[in-house]
Parts: sequence; C-alpha cells; structure tokens
Amino acid sequence: MRILVSRSCSQRADACRLLQEAGHELVFQGTEDLAGHKLLGEVEAVFLGVYTKVNGGFLPKAVRLKHIITASAGTDHIDLQACKARGISVHSAGDANSASVASHAIGLMLAVVRKTVQADKLLREGKWDRDRFMSFDLEGKTLGIVGFGNIGKEVAKQASGFGMRVVVYDPYVHESEVKKCELVYGVKSECVETLGQLLGKADIVTIHVPLLDSTRGLVGEKEIALMKDKAVLINTSRGEIVDEKALVKALREGKLHGAGLDVFQEEPKVSKGLLELENVVLTPHIGAMTEESFRKMGVQAVEGFLRAS
Ligand code: NAD
Repeated sequence: MRILVSRSCSQRADACRLLQEAGHELVFQGTEDLAGHKLLGEVEAVFLGVYTKVNGGFLPKAVRLKHIITASAGTDHIDLQACKARGISVHSAGDANSASVASHAIGLMLAVVRKTVQADKLLREGKWDRDRFMSFDLEGKTLGIVGFGNIGKEVAKQASGFGMRVVVYDPYVHESEVKKCELVYGVKSECVETLGQLLGKADIVTIHVPLLDSTRGLVGEKEIALMKDKAVLINTSRGEIVDEKALVKALREGKLHGAGLDVFQEEPKVSKGLLELENVVLTPHIGAMTEESFRKMGVQAVEGFLRAS
C-alpha cells in the first residue's frame, strides 16, 4: 500500500521501517500539511500526528483513504464520525506515552509549587532571594485526577511516591479501578461522583480527559470558583478543556496558587494573559516528547495498522 507520511512521522525511524518491511511504499511529506499534497487523493493510508487536522478540508480530497495511522494518544485532530461514515479506520498510539505525560504533569506540579522557573530566572539576574520561595510539601496533599484512563492512572502511581492522597473523577470508570490503584501502589485513593466534589477536595487538580464535545470547557469560571483557595491546576490534556480567560483571571486575582500548562487553546499561540503571569509554568506541548515515547507512539500505532490491514 502507498502511505503518505507527515514530517513528524518521517522522523519515527522504527515505525517507518516496520511499514517498509511489511511491503508498504512510503511517500514522505516535508510538512504536517498533508491536505495540500498532490498524492493525497491516491493513497490508501496516511501516517500523521496531532498537528495534521483530518477534517472537512482533508477528507474530501482523500478519496481512496482506508486507514489513518496517528502517532498520538488523542484523536481530537481527526473527525472520527466522518471517518466512521466513510469506513476509514483510525490506528492510534494507545498507552505508549502515558508514563512520559504523567511524569511531565508531576514535573509541572513540582515546578509550580516550588516556583522553580521563577527562582532560576531571578538567580540568573543575580538576585539571591530565598524568602519569596517559601512553599509547601506534596506529602499529605490531595491530588485531584480528572480522567482516570492510561495517563490518569500513571499519575496516581507516580504521585504515590510523594505520599499524596488521590481523589478521582471519571464517570466512565468503576470505583474498583481506583481501589485497585490503592492496593497496587499504596496510594490512598477515593472516587467521587461529580467534578465539583473533586474540585472542593483537591489541593492540586490535574486533567487527563480527551477533548470531546462533552469535555470542551470542562473547567471554566464556575468550576474554578469551586476549587480550594490557593489550589494548583495542571493541564497536559488539551487546551480547549480549560477556559483560559477564566484561568488567567483566577491566577491574576490570587484565587489559585498557580498553574502548569503543556497545552493551549490556540496552539502554537499562547495568550498574552498567560505569558504575563509569574505563577504559571508553560511548556510547548512536550508531555510525550521523550525518546522512548516518541519511538513507542509510532511503533504502537503502526502495529495496530499492520494487524488490521
Ligand atoms: P484515555 O482514553 O486512556 O483516558 C481518558 C479518560 O478520561 C477515560 O478514562 C475516560 O473515561 C475519561 N473521561 C472522558 N470524559 C470524561 C469527563 N467528562 N470527566 C472525567 N473523565 C472523563 O486517554 P489517555 O491516554 O489517558 O490521554 C488523555 C488525554 O491526554 C488524551 O486524549 C490527549 O488529549 C492528552 N494527551 C496529551 C499529551 C501531551 O503531550 N501533552 C500526550 C498524550 C495525550
């Protein structure tokens, strides 16, 4: 089969080798924009990442498309309904990057709580100022995990090492899954029925839900008001899940201690409001950017495709 490969996926050597060894012919595109490629109408498969939107501008041109291989856990860049209607199968990376994203969420949490980035900046400016960095320990604090899938579970496991308690909100996961986590990792866990209950209990809230119509704007002004005063918000899922304007307001007014964000409403743009704040740590969607995850994401998605094709 001839497969059109985006720039970021052409860098996934192991995944590309697997495809070639299985006899597929790869056509490499130098950008993430596959919709503009003259061969899109001729290929039966594409290999792409989250920055290639598979939507109304893409699908009508891909008249022979049967398979989409996406080197990502999230599939919100793909119009899944339209693909289903056309009989196009989507092969994604599953849990390949869970541990990396979870550790980035934990890293953001520590950086926000300990104000590490700010301390580094001041020191480089020649200012040895310790007083403003009085902080608090994670031990004994409650971590609210919104979305208890692959990444949410991994966060609970990693948080156990800090002696944190965990409270989980995920309406699609049975309480026994949360209790299993307690038994396996020894992390004190509780499952709650509403997001509001979690927000009222957590010192740190970390978001791990997929972007769906039902999760867009899940954390807005009303939800932030329900959070504990001086709580911390971490988002490594998708920018559109948090109302950025409401978040900036809460950070500016001191309602929240801080926030750690790896994802933004209009990537690659970051709102001026966020850039101006000192109590946020911002990273450019790098949760899964480790050599191990990068490799596994491509390979896992390709293996799913090879099994199905
Ligand atoms: P997953 O499908 O394993 O888990 C998602 C969980 O969210 C599921 O358990 C589901 O039941 C739950 N959920 C759905 N709607 C919910 C709601 N309204 N409230 C609470 N829970 C809800 O996915 P995952 O692998 O854990 O990844 C989660 C998301 O993280 C992905 O969809 C993607 O958007 C994002 N992600 C980001 C990066 C990054 O680089 N920052 C990397 C990988 C994934």
